[in-house]
Amino acid sequence: MKVLRLSEIDVRGKRVFIRADLNVPQDDSGAITDDTRIRASVPAIRDCLARGAAVMVTSHLGRPKEGEWSAADSLAPVARRLSELLGAPVPLVKDWVDGGPWHAALAPGQVVLLENCRFNKGEKKDDEALARKMAQLCDVYCNDAFATAHRAEATTHGIAKHAPIACAGPLLAGELDALGKALAHPARPLVAIVGGSKVSTKLTVLKTLAEKVDALIVGGGIANTFILAAHGHVGKSLVEADLVGEAQAILDAWPGKVPIPVDVVCAKQFSATAAPTQKAIENLEPDDMILDIGATTVAALKTVIAKAGTIVWNGPVGVFEFDAFAAGTRALAEAIAASHAFSIAGGGDTIAAINKFGIADRISYISTAGGAFLEFLEGKTLPAVAILEARATA
Ligand code: ADP
Ligand code: MG
Repeated sequence: MKVLRLSEIDVRGKRVFIRADLNVPQDDSGAITDDTRIRASVPAIRDCLARGAAVMVTSHLGRPKEGEWSAADSLAPVARRLSELLGAPVPLVKDWVDGGPWHAALAPGQVVLLENCRFNKGEKKDDEALARKMAQLCDVYCNDAFATAHRAEATTHGIAKHAPIACAGPLLAGELDALGKALAHPARPLVAIVGGSKVSTKLTVLKTLAEKVDALIVGGGIANTFILAAHGHVGKSLVEADLVGEAQAILDAWPGKVPIPVDVVCAKQFSATAAPTQKAIENLEPDDMILDIGATTVAALKTVIAKAGTIVWNGPVGVFEFDAFAAGTRALAEAIAASHAFSIAGGGDTIAAINKFGIADRISYISTAGGAFLEFLEGKTLPAVAILEARATA
């Protein structure tokens, strides 16, 4: 994967258009409840400003109706927070696609925030005319938003076709480096852990990874479908009976690659207060519900993890939100943290688990991009990255 990087480009005196991911969570009053994404976007902006560029930044926020401005999805709170973080004024430009006085006045060393790009009609369908107009605003287009890299939209794809220079910002480049290291040139053994609730949401990931990895650890509801495929009992656990064939096909194609849990922690109902019981799979009763992997399984998986050269993790292996059923996910998380492998993790609930167990600083790389991370694991081409590659080699 070869893309131009912001660091390779002389931006002095140039107008740089940064597509960031500033899609932060807000409470009912509009207050930002977690500014991680804004803070993560600061380095690219600061770098450009320090090197004498005139900087425009935009992002999507929420799901506004295209073509209509709405206060609820305005980037105004983001502009205020960004201004605090940069220690500089960050004016918000409402109607920006056609340029105008704000554009003419933008000087090197200054930054403006361009209002929610999804307010523009044609953004989501990657409208050609819209993308061309956006490209005319800048000398350098910089994509620093990996989370939207799996979508071809005007600010993530179309603009990159037409801007004089198109490059990746440090966040995007960092994601590509980490993911490339984990999957394109992994230190072996390469171990993947795929948990979560449903096989159906991760079938392509499972198939793609089964082929690439040396061991594919399945957990959570996903493991239940594999247990059934391996002729084990699952009681009344979350299971997708219609996907047993798919699970079976993976087991048959890659004998020995997918360790099946031999014991589990189960309960009679799905509840935080349900009494946990540890059982071997063969002792599972029809009214048992599997909510975590058992101690024997954990011990076996820890050995696999300890030997790994590279670990890719998506999805908790149990209902970690309930303390009684969190031990399996905690143990694997700690095993990953303790290992010397290059480890990469992603997924909304996976990150929640990592934070709950306090091991974030011992994972080599945490991808904050849910959908794009999964599509990368699926081996799909990310359109926003593909266009940067095409521009780099053109
Ligand atoms: P991620 O967001 O990291 O990709 P998923 O959304 O796929 O992960 O899955 C996370 C959810 O899976 C968690 O809410 C967890 O409670 C649930 N889960 C894990 N194991 C089980 C299980 N055995 N039965 C039901 N749900 C489970
Ligand atoms: Mg999730």
